[in-house]
Amino acid sequence: MRRFVHESLPARVVFGAGALAELPAEVERLDLRRALTLATPQQRESAERTAALLGGRSAGVFTEAEMHTPVAVTERAMEVVRERGVDGLVAVGGGSTTGLAKAIALRTDLTQIVAPTTYAGSEMTPILGETKDGVKTTIRDRKVLPEVVIYDVDLTLTLPSALSATSGLNAVAHAMEALYARDGDPIISLKAEEGVRAFASALPRIAVDALDREARSDALYGAWLCGSCLGAVGMALHHKLCHVLGGSFDLPHAETHAVILPHAAAYNAPAAPEAMARLARALGVADAPRGLWELAKRIGAPASLRQLGMKREDIGRAVDLALLNPYWNPRPIEREGVAHLIEAAWSGSPP
Ligand code: NAD
Repeated sequence: MRRFVHESLPARVVFGAGALAELPAEVERLDLRRALTLATPQQRESAERTAALLGGRSAGVFTEAEMHTPVAVTERAMEVVRERGVDGLVAVGGGSTTGLAKAIALRTDLTQIVAPTTYAGSEMTPILGETKDGVKTTIRDRKVLPEVVIYDVDLTLTLPSALSATSGLNAVAHAMEALYARDGDPIISLKAEEGVRAFASALPRIAVDALDREARSDALYGAWLCGSCLGAVGMALHHKLCHVLGGSFDLPHAETHAVILPHAAAYNAPAAPEAMARLARALGVADAPRGLWELAKRIGAPASLRQLGMKREDIGRAVDLALLNPYWNPRPIEREGVAHLIEAAWSGSPP
């Protein structure tokens, strides 16, 4: 076994169907008296129900969370925090809502309780991406790591089928890149493999029945594991490419991850045989890239960047952008290989 340094990030996790009922006890344990509940406009009702659980300890709701954490939204939320004397945050939602809680925590160090409703995994990471004037900057700071995470399976039952599929593959991508991360270790690899196994079993069942509580429970467990991989180690080609494509061509977050995943796996496969063997084992297939592609197809995830609205004439610019800022990847970033990857992802051909 090679030498490694493992650092565990602190997190208190409350898991299970109906776990949100524990929220008042958690708020009391942290001695919060004026907790502000955050959500997107689409999840306002869920935020109001959550805030109602807090009774006199609620400072109301703020439901303007948006994808990619625009600083303008955070500034509006900061006014509410000041006006209402808020002393803690409760986020109910996906990565967008968690991002808003983290952005407020960065500025105030307020305690965060996050109840995730997608599989994106942001709740397990000390990472925050913020957008200002169309530019997204990402920071890593322990201040933004949530103190308590309540994984209530019931909150995920309403996640639409299409988003369940892409959000799940987004999480699988965290695990894949953790398996070959330069700063990976055996504990992270255990979590990554188990996370992929949970999703490989859960996602096809969710595709058939979105209300399957057992499958939803397995998927949320997978989201926790994969999110903690993302929080612990550095990501490579897959995440950098999704970041560039999403930002430059205005492509949706989880869908872009779903499309790129098998192709990024195929690019890195020759340089990461052990990671691919573990990934294949977790997926229950012989070939990991092909297995990821087939899983995506089976659960109805979009298969091509073309489907997401990217134009063929943008492929060349996408390749240039992908090569702009050098970073570590198990296989060196080579123009020809990246061009092949993006073309295959654009057309949706098998990896
Ligand atoms: P999201 O939070 O943007 O949610 C997508 C849509 O689905 C929203 O309209 C939301 O209200 C709705 N929704 C979410 N859960 C639902 C549910 N259970 N039922 C019904 N509707 C629901 O999507 P996401 O993919 O979770 O998050 C994407 C954002 O998170 C991106 O900005 C991404 O960069 C960020 N992210 C950050 C990290 C990190 O570590 N910092 C990790 C992953 C993702």
